[in-house]
Amino acid sequence: MLRVTIIGAGVSGLACGIELEELSKEKNVPLELNILEAGPKPGGTLSTLEQDGFLMEEGPDCFITEKPAALELSKKLGLEGELIRTNPTLKQSFILKGTKLYPIPEGFYMLAPSRLMPLMRTPLLSPLGKLRAALEPFVKARRGPGDESVGAFVRRRFGREVLEALAQPLVGGVYNAGPDDLSVAACLPRFREMELKYGSLLKAMAARRLGVSGRGMSTQVSGARYSLFVSFKKGLGALGEAMASKIPPASLWLQAPVQSLKPTEHGTWEITSHGRAQEADAIVLAIQPAKMRPLLGPLGPEWDKLLSAVPAHDSATLNLGFRLKDVGHPLDGFGFVVPAREKKLIVGCTFASQKFEGRAPEDCVLLRAFLGSEAVKDIKSQGEAVILERVLGELTPILQIQGPPMFHHWAVYEGSMSYFRPGHLDQVSLLEEKAAETKGLYLAGNGLKGAGIPDAIAAGQDAAEKIIQNLKLI
Ligand SMILES: Cc1cc2nc3c(=O)[nH]c(=O)nc-3n(C[C@H](O)[C@H](O)[C@H](O)COP(=O)(O)OP(=O)(O)OC[C@H]3O[C@@H](n4cnc5c(N)ncnc54)[C@H](O)[C@@H]3O)c2cc1C
Repeated sequence: MLRVTIIGAGVSGLACGIELEELSKEKNVPLELNILEAGPKPGGTLSTLEQDGFLMEEGPDCFITEKPAALELSKKLGLEGELIRTNPTLKQSFILKGTKLYPIPEGFYMLAPSRLMPLMRTPLLSPLGKLRAALEPFVKARRGPGDESVGAFVRRRFGREVLEALAQPLVGGVYNAGPDDLSVAACLPRFREMELKYGSLLKAMAARRLGVSGRGMSTQVSGARYSLFVSFKKGLGALGEAMASKIPPASLWLQAPVQSLKPTEHGTWEITSHGRAQEADAIVLAIQPAKMRPLLGPLGPEWDKLLSAVPAHDSATLNLGFRLKDVGHPLDGFGFVVPAREKKLIVGCTFASQKFEGRAPEDCVLLRAFLGSEAVKDIKSQGEAVILERVLGELTPILQIQGPPMFHHWAVYEGSMSYFRPGHLDQVSLLEEKAAETKGLYLAGNGLKGAGIPDAIAAGQDAAEKIIQNLKLI
């Protein structure tokens, strides 16, 4: 009998459990599976709420289909008919400057433009900033190995203004960290590949338009590539629920936080939750590296050092329902992001009922503000009511809000967004080596190779495959 305990029932832990159930049947290996989840429901950050005809996402609101793991799993779970695309009639997102929203220049994706002309026309950059960006093809490529921060990369190639006005808010909106704290190799490797191959990102994009290279960015849609993002009619919570339904009920333990892990003298693991210990041949930590620290740190200082290299930030979302007549802005896009230099509490705001169908009753709109770790500190010290007023104060002139929200709903996530510092990939290799040397210990979650839902699912599935491959060692 193979005894496996998974710590965490987010999508990563659940994906690992589903894969283990399948592989053990395929290989005829009797399995005793236990998934220990600290919270009251499975799914981790995936959580959808329904209220008075509104469908609110507390955590993620979509996933990318380009990385296949989440899409394939959804199909396997029978959810294909439930998948929905972002609103095909909308093609733009905005960036805030002052109290006005400006469209992201067409073809600008995360940290680089694919075409120069839309960038030359945007009011988001000064004439000098535009001139500097246009000189990008003449900037020498950085050759040689070694990682660089997203901030240094964009400053070097396109100049400070493109970084501050465009790349920082777009990248920050996804990774919830500053560009100087993010690794270009771990977060946006394609841009570095383009620099190395073509010597310039603009040249690489032009080559792609001329059909020289098949891999690149969409030039049609601005901002994040929403056409590649999907959700479900009933929200992303449907994925967590469908995944949990594939785990035998007796294997899923809710409100079971793991407090400690200890290797035993028989080469197994002792896992303690609520003071009760259980034994397993293999354990999978499907949680953020920052949350692995208290569990693996006591095993030795090297663990603590390696895990501390992948920090995590807090974040919060605030869903706000309004009557349509009380919002003056036409909401003709998916939402907006806020540059750090605007010094606002909100990092971004999704026009949720515009982005996906079925999120609000006909004569209403659903907005969702996203807030970072500084705001979470303020929520803790000043209380939700004070921060709600501040967020409404920020949104009112931007969206010409003329009446109070019909309701609001907060969700706070502590340490759930790992971010990848420069040098991250080397650190993760060391971490994986250390785990591979440790019998019966496997790592998963969204803090290793990618920060999104498909990455977390793939990491869980990989851990399950490794366990079965390593069976002879157990
Ligand atoms: C506000 C927000 C918005 C996001 N938006 C998107 C998006 O739109 N698209 C996208 O792709 N990604 C998004 N992400 C990232 C995405 O949520 C994650 O990549 C993914 O859900 C991570 O899954 P996971 O299973 O690795 O971790 P989690 O979902 O964090 O699950 C880990 C689980 O482990 C449990 N746990 C922690 N410690 C212990 C312990 N000691 N014992 C037992 N259980 C424990 C936790 O309670 C949790 O349920 C967002 C994240 C946040 C916070």
